[in-house]
Amino acid sequence: MLTGKIAVVTGASRGIGSAIALRLAKDGATVIVNYNGSEEKALEVKQEIESQGGSAAVSQCDVSDFGKCEAFIADVIKTYGRIDILVNNAGITRDGLLMKMPEEDFDKVLDTNLKGAFNTIRFASRQMLRQKSGRIINMASVVGVMGNAGQANYAASKAGVIGLTKAAARELASRGVTVNAIAPGFIETDMTKVLPEKVKETTAAQIPLGKFGQAEHVAAAAAFFASDEAEYITGQVLCVDGGMAM
Ligand code: NAP
Repeated sequence: MLTGKIAVVTGASRGIGSAIALRLAKDGATVIVNYNGSEEKALEVKQEIESQGGSAAVSQCDVSDFGKCEAFIADVIKTYGRIDILVNNAGITRDGLLMKMPEEDFDKVLDTNLKGAFNTIRFASRQMLRQKSGRIINMASVVGVMGNAGQANYAASKAGVIGLTKAAARELASRGVTVNAIAPGFIETDMTKVLPEKVKETTAAQIPLGKFGQAEHVAAAAAFFASDEAEYITGQVLCVDGGMAM
C-alpha cells in the first residue's frame, strides 16, 4: 500500500497517466495530477479519485519548460513537505518520415518526452536524496527498444528515456532512490486512436497476445515499481507490450 505517500504523475489528464493517477490513489497515495492543456480532464481525474475516497490535486505545468518544472516541483514540496513517487508519463508524438521531418517536430518531441523527464527528475531527486527514499518511474516505449519507421523523433526520445533511467538509477541508488522505466507496446488511448484501422489490424497481428493493451495494464506496472515490494529493483525497463518486443 502507498498510504501517506505523495505521488506526482505528469500528463495525468488523459490516457495512461490518468490510469496511473487513479491506481496510485487507489493504493493510498495522495496524487498530484499534472496536465498541460487539458484542465477539465485533469479536474475530472481529481474528482474521480476523490469520489473513490482518495486524495488528489491538479497542477498545470508544461514539462518541457525547465523553469516551470522547478516551480512545479518546489510547489509540491512546499505544500506536502516531500515527494515519494515521481511518474514521468507526459509524452507526445509528431510522426513522419525522417527525410521529411521538420526540425520543429524533432525538437518538440525530444523536449517533451526526454527533456521533460530530465526536468522533473532534476528538481525532485534533490528532495528524494534528502529523504533517503523515492521512486522514479519513467514512461519509455517499445519503440525506444525496437525503433519504428516514421517515428525517428519519438524512438530517439524513448531510447533517451531508457538511458536517462539507467544513469539516474546509478546516481541515486546509494540513497535508496530507485529509477525504473516502463516500455508499453500499443495501448488503447488517444495517442493510438488516430492510427488507421488497417495499421491497427496489422500491428495487433504482430503482438503475441494478439491485441492492444489497456492503460490499466501499464498502471499496474507503475504501481508495482512504486511499491515497497520493488525496493530492490532499479535501472530496469519493463515491457508491458503483450510480448511484442521480446
Ligand atoms: P495521450 O493519451 O496522448 O496523453 C498524453 C498526456 O501527456 C496528456 O495527459 C497530456 O496532457 C500530457 N502532456 C503532453 N505534453 C505535455 C507537456 N508538455 N507537459 C505536461 N503534460 C503533457 O498519451 P498516452 O497514450 O496516455 O501516453 C502516455 C505516455 O505513454 C507517453 O509518454 C507515451 O509516449 C507513452 N506510451 C504510450 C503508448 C501507447 O500505445 N498509447 C505506447 C508506448 C508509450 P494535456 O492533455 O493536459 O496536454
